[in-house]
Amino acid sequence: MKLDIKAIRYLTSEDWRVLQAVEQGSKNHELVPTPLIQHLAGLRGGSGVHRCISNLAKVDLIAKVKNAKYDGYRLTYGGLDYLALNSHRKADSVYSLGNQIGVGKESDIYITASPEGRQLVLKLHRLGRISFRTVKANRDYLRNRNAGSWMHLSRLAAQKEHAFMRVLYREGFPVPEPVAWSRHTIVMEFIDSFPLRMIESVPDPGKLYGELMEMIVALAKRGLIHGDFNEFNILVKEGTKGDKVILTPIMIDFPQMVSTQHANAQMYFDRDVEGVRRYFERKLKYVSDEAGPFFADALKTADPERRLDVEVEASGFSKKMARELDRYVEFTGGDMDDETVAGGGGDVEEVEDEDEYDAEEDVEGADDEVREEAEQEDSHLEDAKLAAEL
Ligand code: ADP
Ligand code: MG
Repeated sequence: MKLDIKAIRYLTSEDWRVLQAVEQGSKNHELVPTPLIQHLAGLRGGSGVHRCISNLAKVDLIAKVKNAKYDGYRLTYGGLDYLALNSHRKADSVYSLGNQIGVGKESDIYITASPEGRQLVLKLHRLGRISFRTVKANRDYLRNRNAGSWMHLSRLAAQKEHAFMRVLYREGFPVPEPVAWSRHTIVMEFIDSFPLRMIESVPDPGKLYGELMEMIVALAKRGLIHGDFNEFNILVKEGTKGDKVILTPIMIDFPQMVSTQHANAQMYFDRDVEGVRRYFERKLKYVSDEAGPFFADALKTADPERRLDVEVEASGFSKKMARELDRYVEFTGGDMDDETVAGGGGDVEEVEDEDEYDAEEDVEGADDEVREEAEQEDSHLEDAKLAAEL
């Protein structure tokens, strides 16, 4: 799935309004009926809406679902990308889009720049892209999802990642600064670095090893476990002090983070520790003489008053949302960077029937919201210079 932004500057304010209407309608309908699109867009006269719909479908931002029982459209990942980029543009968090620097199995990573020219990273979550053939666990859970429910999970992943990054950054953990979140995307600080995976030798592996283990313990003391703390998700920044090379590890990738109260917390903690231990032994030929760290010890020194897992939950990423995402992580093997699920590129099958798409919000009152946003849109889209940049 490529992020192709060519068409973004040609969309009219009415096109945006219709695209938002399809998004809004998708909350309750897998396939949004055309009259509902028309209603939600709040545009007068039918022909205008039909023209917008055909414009949007032509550039694959929405898709007509074949063999449907009624005439309707669904939002595509492309459409969701455009909506997110447009929000980032309006909020001045993204001004221009640069090269793609990473293709995770379940995310695309781009370099972007702020209006002031600061280099940033845009991460687009793409849950559902993995190859299900290679997933050992319950395949039906994965196969039976429709495109809309994948987008819903991708939004949850981005929201969760942003929520955790925000508190971790504030508390001084070595993570990129989170800049913005919209839908299935986040914008964050660009870390000029290499993933640990790409580093052939480390001058003082014992020091780096100790720092990484300390990070795992420091997280647990605040109620958190990374859950995928491996050589792909640890970025290493190189600096110098005199003639010495200084390596600073920065952790990334938080959609699978769990609380130390999670039923399998001990397993996740041990797995993070063991992953680092094994990697250092195998790749960097370093074996620590110390055992551990141990989950029980980390909890003993934990500060119950300053639990970040509790704070994130209170900030809006609820237990229910966490459970939905947890199920997905479990079914995909619990390790989003596991090579067994790499390189699939499996497309999500189209489901023809109407399906309830689990979102609690109702459309009631939504039309006003869409209209209001669309009105804001108008003023922004007149800023042609900005539109051309994206
Ligand atoms: P995934 O969930 O697909 O594993 P990650 O967040 O781990 O996504 O990012 C994938 C890759 O993109 C990383 O291994 C790293 O090389 C690069 N990357 C991600 N975020 C940043 C960042 N803030 N700065 C620099 N590189 C990054
Ligand atoms: Mg990763």
